Amino acid sequence: MKPEIPPTNGLALYFKDLNPFNHQQDLASCISALLNIPKPALTCSGTAALIIALETLKELYPQKTQVIIPAWTCPLVALAIEKIGLIPILCDLEKNHFKFDLHDLKQKNNISTLAIIVTHFAGLVYDLTDLKYIAQQHNTYLIEDAAQAMGAKYNHQSVGLQGDIAFFSLAFGKGLTSAEGGILFSIRPELQKKIHKKASKVPMLKDWEFKRSIELFGYTLLYRPSTLSWIYGHHLRKYLKENNEIAAVGDDFNQEDIPIHQLGKWRSHVAAHAANRLPEHWNQAHLQAKKRIEQLRKLPHLTIFDEESSTTATFPFILILAEHKKITDAILAALWTGGLGITKLFVRAIPDYPALKHLHSSVPNAIDFAERSFTITNSAWLDDQNFNKILKTIEMITLQYDLI
Ligand SMILES: *Cc1c(COP(=O)(O)O)cnc(C)c1O
Repeated sequence: MKPEIPPTNGLALYFKDLNPFNHQQDLASCISALLNIPKPALTCSGTAALIIALETLKELYPQKTQVIIPAWTCPLVALAIEKIGLIPILCDLEKNHFKFDLHDLKQKNNISTLAIIVTHFAGLVYDLTDLKYIAQQHNTYLIEDAAQAMGAKYNHQSVGLQGDIAFFSLAFGKGLTSAEGGILFSIRPELQKKIHKKASKVPMLKDWEFKRSIELFGYTLLYRPSTLSWIYGHHLRKYLKENNEIAAVGDDFNQEDIPIHQLGKWRSHVAAHAANRLPEHWNQAHLQAKKRIEQLRKLPHLTIFDEESSTTATFPFILILAEHKKITDAILAALWTGGLGITKLFVRAIPDYPALKHLHSSVPNAIDFAERSFTITNSAWLDDQNFNKILKTIEMITLQYDLI
């Protein structure tokens, strides 16, 4: 079996984390203390957290039916909005960036807009200052999608405290995991009370809990380079061979992929136990990413997304935009199937997923960003030797591009 490096810097679990006789730490209190945030509600996924957030806001403003999202994001976000009868409105991105095109955002925000979902992509912090001003025009709520950014900081504070409501994801590959799980909280006491009430009323579904518990055990066993290809690399290569990029990166979701149930006690205790290792995990990832970003910066024709001043990113992977689609295609042709943790974050803009094509709207920059972006894992298992291999390959491709 060829070693396989994971595409993101997931926190590995140890068998001792699974011990049901461990001193039982409450995951919500543990995350609250670790991040200095209000005690969160626990949910069965990041998507379920978003649904609870939206339902809470919908009750406050039943006449508002639209939710603005970036046109390049996790397809589950759009599916979640539709699942509860709201309408996703796609905002295009700024040219050559994952941030909102503010002009498009201003135009799309109106009296029917319930919320704007802002995404902290790639463990980087999105500064909400400009968005707050736009949101205020029509009393629109700001929801922070921090699924990829637990641990990231803005002015020494956790992400999720700039807007009205925020959530993290505990899915595989997002960092801390409970085999699907979500963390939901609000800095606004009145909203915080409502989301807790709603989250507590969600049913416990034994079949789902059993399935997830098995998956969590499987992850503990197999999330390491020697066996990861069984649960990751094998599927990736199989689908890429069939030219199915959407399935290859696991973006092939539909409404049935969104169960709503409680996060089981055992799984939350496992995550709480592993969470003790997060500060060191984030620290190490930060050091490694900063060093590698410096090296990548020296290559031509690439934009490497780095943390902005007054923010600290967690860098689960390094997000890169090439000047031209041809460069990205050549890099992926050389490295995507190589087991070194190179992949794409979201392979398409939202309307280009078959399950969401009815959301067609003009979002050229999002389509362009989906085509030209790719990621390099920031897992500690990608050692310097393998990173240098990647660097050399990318360097060769970008230099060749100079010649055409
Ligand atoms: C993963 C992800 C989600 C959904 O989280 P789940 O826990 O998988 O439901 C939402 N938004 C973004 C940006 C994500 O990366």
